[in-house]
Amino acid sequence: TLLDSMSALGDLGWEAYPAEGWEEISVMDERNTPMRTYQVCNVMEASQNNWLRTGHIAREGARRIYVEIKFTLRDCNSLPGVPGTCKETFNMYYYESNSANLRHVRESQFIKIDTIAADESFTQVDVGDRVMKLNTEVRDISNLSKKGFYLAFQDVGACIALVSVRVFYKRCPLAVRNLAQFPDTVTGGDSALVEVRGSCVADAEELEAPRMYCGADGGWLVPIGRCVCKPGFEEEEGACRPCRPGTYKASAMDAYCTKCPGHSHSPQEQASECICEKGYYRAEADSRSMACTRPPSAPDNPISTINETSVTFEWSPPLDNGGRGDVTYNVHCARCPGAGRSCGPCGPGGGGGPHFTPRQFGLSMGKVLVTELQAHTNYTFSVEALNGVSHLSPTPRQQVSVNITTSQTVSVMLKERKRKGSVTLAWQGPDRASGAVLEYEVIYYEKRDQNYTVLKTKSNIMTVNGLKPGTTYVFRVRARMDGGYGNYGGEIELETSHDGECQNVLDHEKQLFSISPYFRHCGYIKAKQDPDEEMQFQHGRGKSFPKTSIKLPGSRTYIHPHTYEDPNQAVRDFAKEIDASSIRIERVIGAGEFGEVCSGRLKLPGKREICVAIKSLKAGYTDKQRRDFLSEASIMGQFDHPNIIHLEGVVTKCKPVMIITEYMENGSLDTFLKKHDGQFTVIQLVGMLRGIASGMKYLSDMSYVHRDLAARNILVNSNLVCKVSDFGLSRVLEDDPEAAYTTRGGKIPIRWTAPEAIAYRKFTSASDVWSYGIVMWEVISYGERPYWEMSNQDVIKAIDEGYRLPAPMDCPLVLHQLMLDCWEKGRSDRPNFGQIVNALDKLIRSPGNLRPLANSSPPASTVEDWLDSIKMGQYKEHFASAGYVTLDSLLFINIRSVTPLMGVTLAGHQKKILSSIQSLQTQGTHVQV
Ligand code: AMP
Repeated sequence: TLLDSMSALGDLGWEAYPAEGWEEISVMDERNTPMRTYQVCNVMEASQNNWLRTGHIAREGARRIYVEIKFTLRDCNSLPGVPGTCKETFNMYYYESNSANLRHVRESQFIKIDTIAADESFTQVDVGDRVMKLNTEVRDISNLSKKGFYLAFQDVGACIALVSVRVFYKRCPLAVRNLAQFPDTVTGGDSALVEVRGSCVADAEELEAPRMYCGADGGWLVPIGRCVCKPGFEEEEGACRPCRPGTYKASAMDAYCTKCPGHSHSPQEQASECICEKGYYRAEADSRSMACTRPPSAPDNPISTINETSVTFEWSPPLDNGGRGDVTYNVHCARCPGAGRSCGPCGPGGGGGPHFTPRQFGLSMGKVLVTELQAHTNYTFSVEALNGVSHLSPTPRQQVSVNITTSQTVSVMLKERKRKGSVTLAWQGPDRASGAVLEYEVIYYEKRDQNYTVLKTKSNIMTVNGLKPGTTYVFRVRARMDGGYGNYGGEIELETSHDGECQNVLDHEKQLFSISPYFRHCGYIKAKQDPDEEMQFQHGRGKSFPKTSIKLPGSRTYIHPHTYEDPNQAVRDFAKEIDASSIRIERVIGAGEFGEVCSGRLKLPGKREICVAIKSLKAGYTDKQRRDFLSEASIMGQFDHPNIIHLEGVVTKCKPVMIITEYMENGSLDTFLKKHDGQFTVIQLVGMLRGIASGMKYLSDMSYVHRDLAARNILVNSNLVCKVSDFGLSRVLEDDPEAAYTTRGGKIPIRWTAPEAIAYRKFTSASDVWSYGIVMWEVISYGERPYWEMSNQDVIKAIDEGYRLPAPMDCPLVLHQLMLDCWEKGRSDRPNFGQIVNALDKLIRSPGNLRPLANSSPPASTVEDWLDSIKMGQYKEHFASAGYVTLDSLLFINIRSVTPLMGVTLAGHQKKILSSIQSLQTQGTHVQV
């Protein structure tokens, strides 16, 4: 209030002129308080012009001023005998001025506010001995700019008593919104809103500049932006309170304080981070929500395999990884010359060795190949395990060691056989790293009687004369070096022909020198077997496989490699031989049954270089193993379909024997899904299933029964295309009808296999369909294990009693129904792969049908229900205050922008909310795949 005439104690001192106009009169109100009023009532005379001017009223920064007047005005009719000049209105004016003591303001300088008349709204008051009708009128003046103003009332012949004049302006009161405080603010002139910048409350910081508008009527409007509580503080009733001991808040973006993660604590209030327990650490890159971890224990179970001057050193992961997944290994090498001399570091040998493959430090797998060691030397290899916090721990790292002694052999080949009874042998000397060769010793004998002859030479070539015709000889060579004799290299057997010429008996020995150095990079580890999937295990292979089956004309039938008398012919027919020099091996990506699986590049002449997967057959294989290994290529090579893994070719002409296939960047489907739990839309999952079904349709059209269809045998490329793989034979049961009823089992993946295939080995495309149903279940549940931890026996029993896997979480009803169809007991009641592909295609075209979930509570319709259903109820308020109330409101928002806005900062929560919105969006709108 800038002026209130009612509260003035003494004279108001307003200026009235002419003197016979307005008069200041004190009256008593009903409570006997004196009131100052100005009155004028010159109704009997014409031509009145009486002015009453207030003192200077300071504006105090207000831009819009309200003037409230209370007055009484006599009705001319109620006054007996007044002339027609009697008025019933008066005028109100103002004059802006910086000066507080103006003597006189000319009439023409005043600006008219309004003509005031008595109106219907009045109250009755007693003024002295009379009852009067008291009118109240409010007018406003906008856009004032000088220090203050004067008000003036002009009477032109009415009978008025001005009882009170109150001048005031409006303010928006101090307010706190979104953790920002907005100061008490004067409203704007005109009816404009005043934009006010808020400041964060104590212990809060700005997320987005807080602003609000002060409305003309003194109310606050439209809060924009917000503050958030600083790390260590959480919001409670519009203020930021410190996190209680035992809890912390790392980021301002987190909504609430949360309990300290494992192996950490916060003894004091207001923690933005929890302190690790003694012996536990947090690496720089670790998030503060991660449990504190410690260095790993020593690697376990060290094993070395020596091959002359190289050694394969392997170990198992430490028993305690310290709570981290980033365990790596460093290998240390010491050379011990022996004879009382002390061990020292393995300095560079003669050839710069030793050489560690893939590397000496920072190994991610428990294996290293060390080459270029000195021959006949003792070495100690130690390995230590490290993880992301090892460097923070003062405790020395624990190591395990192996001691080895190197040797050296020589590889021999037949160079030429020129003359009768004479052969020339050549060999490759040991690595220079192993020291100087003093001489070579060649030993040979007739295979029959084992009487041997020893010859010596300093050269790498030797001609042996005087051999008998028609006789098989065995030759061996070894080197003598500083350290003594090396071991004998691979022996070579030669049969002299009857006219005295030699024939090489073991043809492949010729190839000894052609082994490319590339192969060093891909060593061998033990074959992988998943013992879990084997219930019964027996060996033995049937002899007869149907060579042909009845097929529609025009479609191709798969030919089993065992129908070939010579399995090598099957490989030649179906797989292209690749020259080893066009392959570059880069790294080990997995363990196959016969050896390691590596990734690398293939550059065929005239073609562009491509990424490939390379399976190799480990050394020391039997003939049968080689056949079985290559049988996969003979099978795969018959297929040509976008959802079947593509065979590039084989290497059989030199060792190691290899199968080269297209490279699938994302590896096997089960691991891939586990890694991306919850991250795909239903449509994406259905797309993957469609691919697998399409590949299987192709196989069943070719009469190929897979027998081991499971997510682990599906590979995924970088475009999420799924391809059926694993066509090995060794795991497969015989298809011999004679053998079907014997008790000899095979290796059966029980959980994936149809009951008739388990019970009496009835493997058909219909049993593959059963397995496909299990794959569907694996896919929708993101790699969950079918039947969880039930034992194989319990699974068999449960299936027999009619139990079937329930729908995974968030599984569309139609998909679970399709699974149940695949798991019909009667195999003729199951759909075939063609029907499955069609059903999935339909779903992709009309994704709306995927919306009803098999195990959902009634679908959420509000954002609150939805958040509850995904257990993210704590963000309800954030969504509500951002205006998201109905589920439909989420259908078209840009999901990436959602979570920061809603204050969701925990990565796991973000992921959950985003993927759920994403699936709402794909279910709620028409999606093209
Ligand atoms: P397999 O012997 O076929 O079971 O292969 C063993 C493992 O090597 C698989 O589980 C995959 O992780 C990996 N692997 C096999 N083939 C490929 C490929 N073509 N592309 C990428 N990874 C592969």
